[in-house]
Amino acid sequence: MHKRIFSKVFIIILSYTLSSCYICNFPLYEYPPDWKGISKRDSVLAYYSKYLNGKKIFLDPGHGGEDRKNRSKDGKIIEADVNLRVALYLREYLQKAGAVVIMSREEDKTVPLYLRSELANQSNADLFISIHHNAPAKWEDDYTNYTATYYHAKEDSYEYEPCERDIAKYIQRDLSYVMGNPGGLGSFDGTYSDYEIYPGEGFSVLRKTKIPAVLVECAFHTSRLENLRLNDEVFNQIQAWGIFRGIGKYYRAGIPEIVIIKDSVFYKNNLLKIAFMLKDSSGINPKSIRVYFNKEEVSFQFVNNIVSLGITVNDNKENFLRVICANKNGNHSLPFHKKILINKNDEVKILDIN
Ligand SMILES: [Zn+2]
Repeated sequence: MHKRIFSKVFIIILSYTLSSCYICNFPLYEYPPDWKGISKRDSVLAYYSKYLNGKKIFLDPGHGGEDRKNRSKDGKIIEADVNLRVALYLREYLQKAGAVVIMSREEDKTVPLYLRSELANQSNADLFISIHHNAPAKWEDDYTNYTATYYHAKEDSYEYEPCERDIAKYIQRDLSYVMGNPGGLGSFDGTYSDYEIYPGEGFSVLRKTKIPAVLVECAFHTSRLENLRLNDEVFNQIQAWGIFRGIGKYYRAGIPEIVIIKDSVFYKNNLLKIAFMLKDSSGINPKSIRVYFNKEEVSFQFVNNIVSLGITVNDNKENFLRVICANKNGNHSLPFHKKILINKNDEVKILDIN
């Protein structure tokens, strides 16, 4: 009997010792080598300023104000606050690299979802990043934890903009790397379509935002591991650093430009002729080019970086042109959508679509 009690006590003492050692010795996170020292950090910021200088980035820290209900089991980790801290540190890094940063909120206040997209669209920014932390479907689950970066729609949908997936990939890779938190098994590279959550609709904030947009779920604020570090401001800086590096690397890979050659636009006998130049310093991948006319994919010629097409169209009708291409680094062109109007005198007008 005595023996049994002794062995029980021994096991309790041993497991307590092991668990306490485990907690105190376990590194909750590591300092990224390029972030650790101020001078090293500054040199990295200066390096990325080559690609970020003058870029306009819209940051959207999710929730806040009346919307503060997402929190950890013990109530100490409040998603709205973590999102804001990460966004403010990210702003600091982006500004130091010469980017112009606009935010949907800079403090704990209510910003309705529709307004976040509206502000982003009005800002005319180059990029929209919504920052969040995730929670599982079952609230008692405090184990699930992964990083995820969402883009809008799916590849087979006309609404899908491949450049958003490119941005998502870059941010996801560097964020998950600095956090030591991989991208989950639901996706090969940690990027997810928002149709996975709301089929055919996606997230309102991504659907309604017309500038290239992604939504980052940095980690699960409900996770036991994340509970130990999400309120640590040093860790929030590291999270922001991961997103910053992702943005910098995305712009470093270049973005192809599509420029309509004005003299090429011509309409006669129901035939519209139009040509555009594809420009990129790393070169254009010819296999990536896709041209849509009134939402139908059409054929074209591609010679010397010039895409030319001839399409039969009726006048007095609105026509829509869309072009997609990618450079040799794999980065796609920004959304390129034009409205083409032809009047009775066979004059062609090309308008931007916002
Ligand atoms: Zn959220």
